[in-house]
Amino acid sequence: MEKLTDISVIKALMKKHGFEFSKSLGQNFLINPSVCPRIAETGNAKQGFGIIEIGTGIGVLTAELAKRAEKVVAIEIDKRLIPILEDTLSDFDNVKIINADVMDVDLSKIIDENFKELDVAVCANLPYYITSPVIMKLLESRLRIKSVTVMVQKEAGRRLCAEMGTRDMGAVTVAVNYFSDPRILFDVSRGSFMPSPNVDSCVVRFDIKDRTPDGVDDEKFFFKVVRGAFSQRRKTLSNSVSLSFGIEKSVVMKSIEQAGLSSKVRPEQLSMEEFIRFSNILRSFISF
Ligand code: SAM
Repeated sequence: MEKLTDISVIKALMKKHGFEFSKSLGQNFLINPSVCPRIAETGNAKQGFGIIEIGTGIGVLTAELAKRAEKVVAIEIDKRLIPILEDTLSDFDNVKIINADVMDVDLSKIIDENFKELDVAVCANLPYYITSPVIMKLLESRLRIKSVTVMVQKEAGRRLCAEMGTRDMGAVTVAVNYFSDPRILFDVSRGSFMPSPNVDSCVVRFDIKDRTPDGVDDEKFFFKVVRGAFSQRRKTLSNSVSLSFGIEKSVVMKSIEQAGLSSKVRPEQLSMEEFIRFSNILRSFISF
């Protein structure tokens, strides 16, 4: 098999298939040979596991996953890459490519149909323009998965893996911590990609929790409060929530007070327990 991180191999494949990079699809392919084996090894690609990959490019990570895992199902939106993958992955009989937008596919069905007897993990070098929506889809769908190991832009990684109650956090941090134990695994420099992006990246892993936190009265409402709380950057919790829900500030203030929080508290200062307490109290005030 040719070395898919080799620039001359990539260029030859592109020429043969008349392929050009699409910036809008976030096509920055990995050319650093040490990165894909590391993602595969830290991402649960091993015997007994089926792996879902999102965004194959020319198959550089797909091949490393297929070498280690029992089976790989990879979802790639760009149909121009399909004939290239038929070339590059021809040595493997445990890879299935689905030509689709990951946001449109039923991942639960894919897992049931392909990974019956296997544990499941997700590994990807994600297209950066949909990092948060993809991660939210993976987590909120409550899929039968053990872990999600993905390359994201460095700043996104910091936000995703921020400690609750610290400045870096956002709505997605709360969701990630609700469903998983997140952590940053390692950094990857911009020079590791072709074409090279303007920013550095990092690989993060979310180990999916067996149980989500106790005490949430209404999960849908809880996440609405979380999104509302962070909808106005640098505003207090009371301002953000009253604006996003279109309700009297006094009602929000009363909930903040009853939750035992300071009237001037900002959303990024709240712990998971405080978010849960506040959302339960707010719901009891406005659901009638
Ligand atoms: N895994 C390859 C690598 O590491 O070199 C490619 C990674 S590249 C950052 C992202 C890949 O995701 C591209 O191949 C792109 O075409 C694909 N992609 C973009 N949007 C997608 C979507 N909505 N659904 C599935 N694949 C998508």
